[in-house]
Amino acid sequence: MKKLLFDWFSQKKRDLPWRHTKDPYLIWLSEVILQQTQVVQGLSYYLNFSSKYPTIEDLANAPEDEVLKVWQGLGYYSRARNLHKTAKIVTETYNGIFPNNYDEIRALPGIGDYTAAAIASFAFDLCYPVLDGNVSRVISRMFGVITPIDTLAGKAELMKILNKQIDKKNPAEFNQAIMEFGAIQCKPRGTLCETCPFQADCYAFRHKVIDILPMKKNKTAVKPRRLDYLVCIEDNHIWIKKRMNRDIWQGLYDFPETDKISKNWKLLDICEHQLSHQKLTISFWKTEKLPEKLKSSAQKVPISQFFEFATPKPIHNFAIKNQLITNSVEKKSPNVKKL
Ligand code: SF4
Repeated sequence: MKKLLFDWFSQKKRDLPWRHTKDPYLIWLSEVILQQTQVVQGLSYYLNFSSKYPTIEDLANAPEDEVLKVWQGLGYYSRARNLHKTAKIVTETYNGIFPNNYDEIRALPGIGDYTAAAIASFAFDLCYPVLDGNVSRVISRMFGVITPIDTLAGKAELMKILNKQIDKKNPAEFNQAIMEFGAIQCKPRGTLCETCPFQADCYAFRHKVIDILPMKKNKTAVKPRRLDYLVCIEDNHIWIKKRMNRDIWQGLYDFPETDKISKNWKLLDICEHQLSHQKLTISFWKTEKLPEKLKSSAQKVPISQFFEFATPKPIHNFAIKNQLITNSVEKKSPNVKKL
């Protein structure tokens, strides 16, 4: 398997900036950004983060609000908060030097088995196979693993195969190659079997079960949820609120929420937004006066500064769509639309 995989990788691999570094900080940064994110989208965030925070100390010293703002649009904001927390730990506990062994890397916030193995192998050439969604699919198909890949037994079976297959002299290249193979050849849909070098040996291809493998036990339950926001503008200021609780979008800013709708409010917009575990239906209500009981958890900010706050995607989209502020990103004079 190794030889075919390495040959394929040398011909097909994409030229990505994090493949040219052994710096564990930059490798970790790229891995965190790329969790749940396509390379095309993650690339600009990686370039932005690595130029704004070239060292882990730079990231550790940045305010959390700023880090969340740079992260805005990527979703799964706990990744950004853990990124910041871990940068502080490495700076304070390890004098800014990323730990160079699997167990210490794995113990850092937000770093699971997969990310620890990626950093350990890519930065330090340690022999730990990576097992993410792409790799699980490739191994399950090639070796005919029918145990569901989202179970402990399934993961153990895949790991056993990977531990046999990994190139012990070059674990970094092997891990990079198999992940890339899953991302661009053995894809979830539109699998490129016709040009695959493993066709002759691949269990799924020979048995025509490509669409069935990998098997999964649990489909994530998605709960519907309704959010009603109050959009209240007073004297060129707007009421916003920071989400403090352990809930979606923790640390980001949105509008004050209400669970009762007054007939005096005007519905400005309604949209749906899908998160991993929740399907949101979001309504935006215009009000001239914010109810007193909502004021203590909210703050009034100049409307021209609205886009300086990190906001969840639907809030950002609402503000753009409704021209809450025109060109405020460039900080031109605010042009408040009469909402
Ligand atoms: S033959 Fe198809 S299913 Fe099998 S490894 Fe290649 S791309 Fe994947």
